Amino acid sequence: MAPILLLLSAICHLIVIVGLTLHPTDFLIGTEPQLSFNRTDLHSASLDFGKMTSIEPTAVLHPSSAADVAKIIKLAYESGHGFVVSARGHGHSINGQSQAANGVVVQMSGSSGAPVAPVVSEKLMYVDVWGGELWIDVLKSTLQYGLAPKSWTDYLYLSVGGTLSNAGISGQAFNHGPQISNVHEVDVVTGKGEVVTCAENKNSELFHAVMGGLGQFGIITRARIALEASPQRVRWIRVLYSNFSVFTHDQEYLISLHGQPSSKKFDYVEGFVIVDEGLINNWRSSFFSPSNPVKISSIADGGNVLYCLEITKNYYNHSDPQSVDQEVDALLEQLNYIPASVFTTDLPYVEFLDRVHKAELKLRSKGLWDVPHPWLNLFVPKSRIADFDQGVFKGILGNKTSGPILIYPMNKNKWDAETSVVTPNEEVFYLVALLRSALQNGDEALTLERLSDENRQIIKFCKDEKIDIKQYLPHYTTHEDWMDHYGEKWPQFYKRKMEFDPRHILATGQRIFEPSF
Ligand code: FAD
Repeated sequence: MAPILLLLSAICHLIVIVGLTLHPTDFLIGTEPQLSFNRTDLHSASLDFGKMTSIEPTAVLHPSSAADVAKIIKLAYESGHGFVVSARGHGHSINGQSQAANGVVVQMSGSSGAPVAPVVSEKLMYVDVWGGELWIDVLKSTLQYGLAPKSWTDYLYLSVGGTLSNAGISGQAFNHGPQISNVHEVDVVTGKGEVVTCAENKNSELFHAVMGGLGQFGIITRARIALEASPQRVRWIRVLYSNFSVFTHDQEYLISLHGQPSSKKFDYVEGFVIVDEGLINNWRSSFFSPSNPVKISSIADGGNVLYCLEITKNYYNHSDPQSVDQEVDALLEQLNYIPASVFTTDLPYVEFLDRVHKAELKLRSKGLWDVPHPWLNLFVPKSRIADFDQGVFKGILGNKTSGPILIYPMNKNKWDAETSVVTPNEEVFYLVALLRSALQNGDEALTLERLSDENRQIIKFCKDEKIDIKQYLPHYTTHEDWMDHYGEKWPQFYKRKMEFDPRHILATGQRIFEPSF
């Protein structure tokens, strides 16, 4: 079809939703419209990793600058008829959070790469990146200078804006805090279409609002991320426990060392619950120990639950191998794991950071990646983690959990209380992540309905037992539940929303606010 016809059909299409205020020729790179009504674009903007919700937007914007993002939001804000706008990073949400019903999805991460290349300051140890940049590409660019970000997620094919809108956590969080504690500055396009540079000491209300702000206050178009000298190698260790309180005691001890010099603490502390050893349960693991001392199944007698502590020690090419061994041994000596259960491997730092991608490729090859993912991520206060173990790991969950279950503690003093994230009211809290895949393989225990029902049971159990959990990557469908989630922070969250996105145009896929136009 002639391009002119395509363009006309697109214009007619959009006139319907925005009342003559916007058409594709408003957004051109040369003669190429960036505002797309292409079926493939609309379809891919309607998908996410969760595969449980799918809503097509009316159009998809492929921005080439913050100014493009500002232009579309300004049009949405100022037009009498209004339409909603959602940023989409890599679409790795679970419940349609980056979708935009009757609106425009701003596709921040694209196959053709970021419109602005990362800029590294070696002297000041930071990198400036486009909000849609994937963390894997941030890493590649900083490594050219021997530098790397300090705080990570387990998986690197996520966008900077997407993880900063949640928090961004992994085994380094006990030490460096979440990713939102490692950002110097961001450029944000607010819900009024204004481009604002903000930081801890500059437009700080907006800065704090967008950190963990679930996309509610603005679209992050640039982030300045703190860097450190990049280690070259990693000693990666796993040890097993059959006793939950010994396991958590050791995890809590290790994270209490955060203030120690780096030679006296591990660089990464995570853990997981082992229910059975199938691929789907261990997909995060590309761990290979050349000399596995025991078969896990020989310890888990009678199908008991086992707990695995996962720790790493980073080191440099110039490090003395003996001193790395000594530091690791001295730390391991303080722990009370099952003596014969030390699994160790050694690998390049980048391979360690990118470990989940390897597992992704394995699952993809078996058709097990593009399936529904009814994930449940919870922050559980330290004082109630044993009750959670009894009621959930040893109770509600049978021996088929359909995915890895991560569990690791973090120090609340590494989280800035002014940001939008909510965490339990205790100095130490745990992440419990049930990373579930629903399978249609005939097994009743693994269906989407069954796993979703189990998630509801877990939340109900916590409510009945008065375990004050907070959801991470939260998902609620009623206004009351959102108010409850934010608790004491709700008035501030609401005030910030009224200030920065008064028409409730942004990130409506989170289902916190209804648009008001
Ligand atoms: P999207 O799904 O595209 O967007 C998420 C939300 O953020 C939406 O509301 C969207 O509107 C908003 N948003 C996106 N970009 C911007 C922007 N530039 N500015 C403002 N708002 C924006 N999380 C962790 O913390 N640690 C982990 O280890 C971890 N591992 C994961 C592994 C996998 C396999 C998956 C699927 C997810 C994992 N997550 C983890 C969760 C992940 O951090 C969030 O789902 C994150 O939102 C995904 O980023 P995305 O770019 O795909 O965001």
